[in-house]
Amino acid sequence: MTILIRPTEESRPQRNLDSWQRQMAQAIRDPDELADLLELGPEFREPARRAAKLFPLLVPRGYVDLMERGNPLDPLLLQVLPLGAEEIVAAEFVLDAVGDHDAKRAPGLLHKYDGRALLITTGSCAIHCRYCFRRHYPYADDPKRLADWDQALNVLSNDTTIHEVILSGGDPLMLTDQRLSDLIMRIEAMPHVQRLRIHTRLPIVLPDRVTTRLLEILTGGRLTPIVVVHANHPQELSGRCATVLKTLVRSGCTVLNQAVLLKGVNDNAETLIRLCESLVDLGVLPYYLHQLDRVQGTAHFEVTEPYGRDLIATLRTRLPGYAVPEYVREVAGEKHKTPIV
Ligand SMILES: *Cc1c(COP(=O)(O)O)cnc(C)c1O
Ligand code: SF4
Repeated sequence: MTILIRPTEESRPQRNLDSWQRQMAQAIRDPDELADLLELGPEFREPARRAAKLFPLLVPRGYVDLMERGNPLDPLLLQVLPLGAEEIVAAEFVLDAVGDHDAKRAPGLLHKYDGRALLITTGSCAIHCRYCFRRHYPYADDPKRLADWDQALNVLSNDTTIHEVILSGGDPLMLTDQRLSDLIMRIEAMPHVQRLRIHTRLPIVLPDRVTTRLLEILTGGRLTPIVVVHANHPQELSGRCATVLKTLVRSGCTVLNQAVLLKGVNDNAETLIRLCESLVDLGVLPYYLHQLDRVQGTAHFEVTEPYGRDLIATLRTRLPGYAVPEYVREVAGEKHKTPIV
C-alpha cells in the first residue's frame, strides 16, 4: 500500500504548520496505542497488527476522543480498527470493484459520467476507513506535483462537455492550501466548467482543516462550490465537526453527505434516522447511502440489499423527503450510480 501521509515541502518547518497539520502528524498509527487508549482486550492486538500491514491504521486523536472507552463495538472504532476479518479473501470481493481502471482518461483523471469528471488529487487521507473502496487503488501511478497535472488538466480544458470537476482522492483537503488553490485556479480558467465539487472526509474527522483560508479558496472564486462530506454515524457529528459544517454552509457552500451502509456501524433505522436528522439540523443534506463496494478485505461490513431497501423504506415513513438519502450502488461501466429500489 502506498497510502501514507507524505509531508510536503510546504509543511516544513514544524513551527509553520497549521493546527490541522500538527494534528495529522500526531495521528494514531500504532494499533497497540489505539488498543491502549480505548482499553481494548488483548485479543484485538495481534489481529490488528497483522491487518494493519494490509492497510495501515490511521486515525486522528480528535476522532478517537469521540469513541467510547472499553467498547470494541463502538461504531466509530469499527470504522478504523484493523480486524483479522480483513484477511479473508471472499469470492466477488475484488481489488478494483468499481471499474476505476477502465475510466482513467489521463493520470489522475477518472471520467465515468456525463458532464462531470473526477481528479484523484492525492492518495493521502486523514483517516483510513477499513471499508474503503480505494484501499487497493494504485495511487503511486497518479501525479504528485502540480506540473504532473498538465495531462489531466489538458484533457479537462479540451472537453467542453465537462461542467463540473470533482476533487477526490484520497482526500483533496489533505493538499496544502497553496496546492489546492493553484489547482482550483487552473480549473477556473476553463470557461465550460461551472461547478467545483470536493469529496472529503476531513470536516468530519479533522474539522480544524476547515480554516478561514480554506473557506476563501472554496467560496472566493468563480466556480459554485459543492462540498460532499462523508459521515456514517451521528456520533461523528458532535462538537467541532458540527460547528465546522454550519460554517461551511453559512459561507456559501452547498454541503451534502454521503454515507456507506456498514454492518455493525449504521445498519439500523434508528441510527440512520439520527444521522439524517443531525445532518439536516446542521444544514447538510443526505445525498447518497452507498451499498458497500465489493472490495477485497471488506466482506464483513456487507449488509444485504433487501435489508438496506427495508431500512430506506422505514426512513421514508419517518423523515421529510429531503432527508432521505438515495440508496445506490456503483456498477462498473454504468453511466450513473445505480439506485437500489
Ligand atoms: C461517483 C462518481 C462521480 C459522481 O457521481 P454523482 O452521481 O454526480 O455524485 C463522478 N465521477 C466518478 C468517477 C465517480 O465515481
Ligand atoms: S477518507 Fe474516504 S478515501 Fe480515505 S480511507 Fe476513508 S473512505 Fe477511503
